[in-house]
Amino acid sequence: MTTPVPHDAAPRRRRRFAALQAVLLLPPLLFVLSTVPGVRPQQGYQFLLDGVLNNLAYECAAALCLLRAWRSPTGRTGSLLLGAGLAVYGSGNVAWTFVVRPMAEPPYPSVSDALFLSFYPLAFAALVLAAHRPGSRLAWSLWLDGVVAGLAVGAVAAAAVVDTILEAPVAGWAAVAVTTASPLLDLVLLVLLAALLSMHAWRPPLGLWLLAAGLVLFVVADLSYLYRTAMGTYVSGMLTDGVWILGVVLMGLAPGWPTVRSRLHLPRWALLAIPLLSTVMALGVLVADHVWHLHPLAVGLAAATVVAALGRLLLTFREVANLADSRELARTDEVTGLGNRRALYRAVEELEGARGASSVSLVLLDLDRFKEVNDSLGHHAGDELLRAVGGRLQQFGRENGTREVVRLGGDEFALLLPSGTAAAELLASGVHEVLRAPFTVESLQVRVRASAGIAVLPLEALDASTLLRRADVAMYHAKSRGAGTFTYDVEADEFASGDRLATAELVREAIEKRTLTLHYQPKVDTGTGAVSSVEALVRWHHPTRGLLFPDAFLPVVEGAGLMEEMTVAVLEQAMDQAREWLRAGDPLAVAVNLSASSLADPRLPHRVARLLADRDVPAHLLEIEITEDFLMADRERARVILDGLRRRGVRVAVDDYGTGYSSLAYLRQLPVDDLKLDKSFVTDMGSDPRALAIVRSTIMLAHSLGMRLVAEGVEDAETCRQLADAGCDVVQGWYYSKALPAAELEAWLARYRGTPVPAAPAPDAPAVPAVPAVPAVPAVPAVPVAQVAQVAQVAR
Ligand code: C2E
Ligand code: CA
Ligand code: CA
Repeated sequence: MTTPVPHDAAPRRRRRFAALQAVLLLPPLLFVLSTVPGVRPQQGYQFLLDGVLNNLAYECAAALCLLRAWRSPTGRTGSLLLGAGLAVYGSGNVAWTFVVRPMAEPPYPSVSDALFLSFYPLAFAALVLAAHRPGSRLAWSLWLDGVVAGLAVGAVAAAAVVDTILEAPVAGWAAVAVTTASPLLDLVLLVLLAALLSMHAWRPPLGLWLLAAGLVLFVVADLSYLYRTAMGTYVSGMLTDGVWILGVVLMGLAPGWPTVRSRLHLPRWALLAIPLLSTVMALGVLVADHVWHLHPLAVGLAAATVVAALGRLLLTFREVANLADSRELARTDEVTGLGNRRALYRAVEELEGARGASSVSLVLLDLDRFKEVNDSLGHHAGDELLRAVGGRLQQFGRENGTREVVRLGGDEFALLLPSGTAAAELLASGVHEVLRAPFTVESLQVRVRASAGIAVLPLEALDASTLLRRADVAMYHAKSRGAGTFTYDVEADEFASGDRLATAELVREAIEKRTLTLHYQPKVDTGTGAVSSVEALVRWHHPTRGLLFPDAFLPVVEGAGLMEEMTVAVLEQAMDQAREWLRAGDPLAVAVNLSASSLADPRLPHRVARLLADRDVPAHLLEIEITEDFLMADRERARVILDGLRRRGVRVAVDDYGTGYSSLAYLRQLPVDDLKLDKSFVTDMGSDPRALAIVRSTIMLAHSLGMRLVAEGVEDAETCRQLADAGCDVVQGWYYSKALPAAELEAWLARYRGTPVPAAPAPDAPAVPAVPAVPAVPAVPAVPVAQVAQVAQVAR
């Protein structure tokens, strides 16, 4: 959407380029027209048409390809090779017309055959380069799909033509070799092409569709030529020649398109239909063999298709089973056996649906002297201590009505309690008590102390990440004051009647007057380094408290029933911004977050379409991010709304993927384009090797369902590199940039684009960026500094 488009600042140059292309397209089109049956007054070779125009057409297609390749910012080498292949092929034709054909006894094979065959290695190289998306590893099942489809097509083609071609009388081994070479090479081309398409989940960018169409026509024409010459029915200037030219022209048009996935794609069921259909075709060939005794090549290819299809099936089973395992593993902590962050998310979700409790608390614990133990006694002792602490906490929690005890990583534990401030504070002091007795670690007596941060949320505003953030902030206060426990109690704050009403009034005004602020965070394509879109994140300039982050006011918005209005405001402001970028000639897609409560209205897709139309903003510049819980809560409504959005061309992403219950099996039935893997997986990647394994298998499965995988919360080069390596399509996080006001984002983009982005992060070099991300990331707590300051004022 931004960089990879062959865009030219000067419209005049763009017009000149367009005119040049039109000129180059003219000869091929005229020739193709001349081969349509009924157009030519007489049949057979005519020098002006089949000698001059035909050759000109080949050369124009090659020139078109080279020209577009040269101007293309991505994949230039591959495209240039393709152009070279077309040029070589064209020159083979020229040689035939002017050297071989005029001879009294034209030799076979001749120099022109050598030139024709040289096309193949160049085309193969171009395809392989197009397949090599740097930094991405592909799901084996996708490769296999491609192989299966290619083999099946090959089997059918072989069954249809090989006998006839080989039975034609040819003399000498060179002649036989050349005659067999081209259908075989055609077959390899088809297999490679099918593999390439399946690697793009059969939803390749437009350029690849053109290349694919061109190659298929080329192969069809080639086979039809071989077949007809063998039968003795080929004459120059017949439709076969036109199809040939059409094929090379489509290939010539292939370079220089945006590398984003085309909207033009096969429906999701096609992913399965391809191996299925291929198998059916192969079985058909095997059955036909019994009746007509086909050439062994056809039978062999058909048998290979069936074997490959079986392999594909087994692999799918394994991938699904792996993912199920890793999802279970994903909720336990390796060291202590307690739940982990995701178990906590899940427990919070369960509480959201529960009745009874009116508020929920999270007691976050941080061991004060754990690092000392770890450094002086070693990791092994450290782990032993963590296990012992975990054991005591779990028992204590169980006896005191705790819903879940988890280890969040490092020396951080948390207890989730389905009750309010008083009970949580009691629990925290109990925890201090329980931890007071010394631990025995490697036969040494070790004493630990913990700091505790407590966050309390009313049930109606319950949300795991808000709870965690607030507990983090409270922990920060507890540590900085040297107090054992600090409570960040929202009920006593915005939610206390007077203050809360006043706050709600202020935020309502901001929503109505469209004075909420949007910050934009770039999403970076790992393959090209281009910024594929930006996520709009809402902020609010509170008249006295300064800039507030979503978790400081979304609960108020939610509580006051203003969520739908806010969503419309954010959508409008985001699309106004998208229109400005579009007008400035640098279109950027904007992603907007929709909370479950703003999705109550089934006419939302219609309203979104109106908002877009009012501004003349094309739908592909809007993306919608929806969390898993909404999808699960009301499946029917989710489907209606998502279908509506997708039908209008709006991209849909599932946000915070992995924290909820949704199974991929269910998601695949929904029109979802992207999966946004939750931050927690990304954060854990550095410390827990299993997290990386989970990320890998999620990426593979997402790909085999035709979705892109977006990783958020990417804070460092190492994580970024690992993600790119694992095949992640898009990354987002502070490593590149925090969310910025529009003007600052533009400045960032200008700097970012100025730096050449190595598409493939070298194994030991720093991955991409970049432009030093905005200010340094605060060490403790994991909340932007501004936000801590701002929350500190809120918290009495
Ligand atoms: P989210 O949609 O998961 O957004 C990502 C959050 O992660 C943002 O926090 C973003 O600033 C933060 N983030 C980005 N990169 C990193 C990183 O590298 N490390 C870490 N630790 N964090 C990173 P933010 O802006 O505070 O938003 C929090 C949540 O508020 C969002 O989570 C989203 O659920 C909600 N939200 C934000 N804007 C809107 C909105 O316009 N409408 C609705 N309904 N919800 C919104
Ligand atoms: Ca989001
Ligand atoms: Ca998210």
